[in-house]
Amino acid sequence: MSEVSRRGFIGSAVVASLAAGAAADGDFPFRNNVPDPLLDGKELPTFKFALEKSEGKVMGGSFGKEATVVQLPISKGLAGVSMRLEPGVARELHWHATAAEWAFVLEGRCRTTVIDPLGNSETNDFDPGDIWYFPRGHGHSIECLGNKPCHFILIFDNGYFSEFGTFSITDWLGHTPKALLAKNLGLPESAIDGIPKNELYFTKGPIPPDGQQPPLQGSLKSPPATHRFRMMAQEPHSIHKGGREWRVGVERFPISQTITGVILDLEPQGLRELHWHPNADEWQYVISGQVSVTMFGSHGRYRIETLDAGDVGYIPQGYGHSIENTGPKAARILIAFNTGRYQAIDLSQWLAANPAYLLADHFGKPASFFEKLPKHRVFIAPTESPAHGSAEIK
Ligand code: MN
Ligand code: MN
Repeated sequence: MSEVSRRGFIGSAVVASLAAGAAADGDFPFRNNVPDPLLDGKELPTFKFALEKSEGKVMGGSFGKEATVVQLPISKGLAGVSMRLEPGVARELHWHATAAEWAFVLEGRCRTTVIDPLGNSETNDFDPGDIWYFPRGHGHSIECLGNKPCHFILIFDNGYFSEFGTFSITDWLGHTPKALLAKNLGLPESAIDGIPKNELYFTKGPIPPDGQQPPLQGSLKSPPATHRFRMMAQEPHSIHKGGREWRVGVERFPISQTITGVILDLEPQGLRELHWHPNADEWQYVISGQVSVTMFGSHGRYRIETLDAGDVGYIPQGYGHSIENTGPKAARILIAFNTGRYQAIDLSQWLAANPAYLLADHFGKPASFFEKLPKHRVFIAPTESPAHGSAEIK
């Protein structure tokens, strides 16, 4: 259907709906004020994908598994990849035409090398709990360091981005005419013989030299903003009886212009309270434990999903939600927002900001009921004191 006829169809549906005295919620075509068919149904679509149970791209013990709009259609604003590299394996030199890359290292050690359009380059080594950020289009590679595998989660600020559609150096040069490449590199044509004809994706070689500045192909010019941040080496951003949070956006990690990353730890029964994000979508990956995630999408639409370790969840911008640890052990969730500047409005804070008499009129409760509610932002429940909420340190 063309854009014009599609608009015409929706327009007449609005007219018909109004003419019928309207209003059955189920007939309203624009629940979100944007014509997104996926979010316009009577029910909310699923917002869960079992990432670690999916197949992905495998080479020996190395793999990349992805969650894009193909696997999880609701996730239009962010995509993610679980990647494991065996010792001696690297994710080859490549760039992304349509997404920036943010990553959190779960296990093992790895090394990245990245170049920016000003010719600055940087090589960084990463341990578990460290993060990186590569702006859209900057060329990079990732090597496993040492004799143990490494495992990390990549997150992209575009749900349509596929890790398997990157611009890889072997794919490019393997398809470039030999004469052209020889001229470009100042070599005889015969010297080009034998390079791969197609994308390698993963390369395999000796374990890289460790603990020293690696030998480079050219001179190294350090970029003004580093690509590495030691996220879990910092104190948590806030601590509560029910859990704690580390949060890193552009204020603390200046290069990360389009992603804010969070590690949320929830004790058993710990609840990240009802809230929404005015300026960003939320992508979730459960590192350990089990959580119940609720999502509210207006028009009475409410959906609850249980996420286990290795599962991905997604909350569109502005949708109400909560995360509760429903398992017997502590839960750890990696969360990313497609903004460098985190914003949220939490239920406790919203209620505390309104007059008790007004709230009383909404819920048929006396004003005294509301006077008992937390006066501050709870953020994670249960809090130190049931009546007076927050133990947030920042
Ligand atoms: Mn990449
Ligand atoms: Mn949230």
